[in-house]
Amino acid sequence: MTISTVENKLAIDCQKINLLGLSPEKLGKFFKDMGEKPFRATQVLKWIHQIGVDDFDQMTNLAKDLREKMKSIAEIKAPEIVSYHESKDGTCKWIIRVKGGDCVEAVFIPEKDRGTLCISSQVGCALDCSFCATGKQGFSRDLDAFEIIGQLWIAVKAFNSFGEKANRVVSNVVMMGMGEPLLNFDNVIDSMGLMLNDNAYGLSKRRVTLSTSGIVPMIDKLAEVSDVSLAISLHAPNDKLRDQLVPINKKYPISSLLASAQRYLDKMPDVRRKITIEYTLMDHINDRDEHARELAILLNKLPCKINLIPFNPFDQSDYRRVTKTALYRFRDILKNAGHTVTVRTTRGDDISAACGQLAGTVRDKTRRSERHINKHQQQPIKFVMS
Ligand code: SAH
Ligand code: SF4
Repeated sequence: MTISTVENKLAIDCQKINLLGLSPEKLGKFFKDMGEKPFRATQVLKWIHQIGVDDFDQMTNLAKDLREKMKSIAEIKAPEIVSYHESKDGTCKWIIRVKGGDCVEAVFIPEKDRGTLCISSQVGCALDCSFCATGKQGFSRDLDAFEIIGQLWIAVKAFNSFGEKANRVVSNVVMMGMGEPLLNFDNVIDSMGLMLNDNAYGLSKRRVTLSTSGIVPMIDKLAEVSDVSLAISLHAPNDKLRDQLVPINKKYPISSLLASAQRYLDKMPDVRRKITIEYTLMDHINDRDEHARELAILLNKLPCKINLIPFNPFDQSDYRRVTKTALYRFRDILKNAGHTVTVRTTRGDDISAACGQLAGTVRDKTRRSERHINKHQQQPIKFVMS
């Protein structure tokens, strides 16, 4: 597209192009279409993602007439912050309004050696895992790339870390908020591209983690275009139990999922890379000794570390958190079998920011939320244990 075609498109859509979500490649094309040199993309990437500027007039190394041209066809617009909450343990949560009025959530978790931002990829989630608050809300829509990277932009800006006086630093990003990132593939890839790019956030591939419930073909597709860290939400050591907890397992059972995780690693030149296996522990559901033993054997061959997550309760769920005794027994069985195991501490509970509690506001197109509320009012959810 030349500048006049860009302008024509604008006249037809009446919508400015939001540069916040454009990947480095797409920003390069944007400037090429305007007849500008490729280095303009590098300059603008730095202004937006390293200096936190959303006003073209502040981009002082661009000629004034170029800035005017850009103002007429483009904008830099982060999603709107509806509210901000801070937990007594330092966890921060933003409720963010996205296009169409839905809201999603992003959470920052400060730790001694890192600051992790957990971001959302969709409004709600279509996959309906039985223990997840997001899943219970049904699904509204995919987030655009600017709405995904916008969560990082908002956090970095809030912590003043675009400047030099950062009060907190986002060192890691995990796609573990609302939604299934592999079902919003292109926008997630563009956003992660910005996270990794040295002219944008410059995070290392080890510090950006995509968590998936197991969309097998998309894991293979991810391996073609990215080498970020991969986390698999397993939660059960056999298909009978996983079918109940993670319904997508009926389509992509455990054996195919673990095989795709191995293929993902096989694509990485660094043989030390590992898959993170997430296992949310629920009292009397998936926390017995035999589950731990079965899991230890199941994961025998996959280079992985296991992250145990005590279930975080929410309204409309009858599951209970694993007891401390069962949690440490489970961990020890895995450790004694030679696995690397970590236990995720629950953070931000007092502001409903813990893992799996993110709810936002979802205009559910699937009407699943209604069904769940009715079902919950009529009868408690029952699960068959294997
Ligand atoms: N859809 C992706 C990423 C978002 S969920 C996935 O499923 O991996 C991020 C993590 O939170 C997953 O491991 C998920 O299983 C876990 N989770 C969901 N609900 C939870 C809850 N109530 N308590 C603890 N962890 C939960
Ligand atoms: Fe969706 Fe992940 Fe929640 Fe499952 S656990 S419903 S895939 S967000």
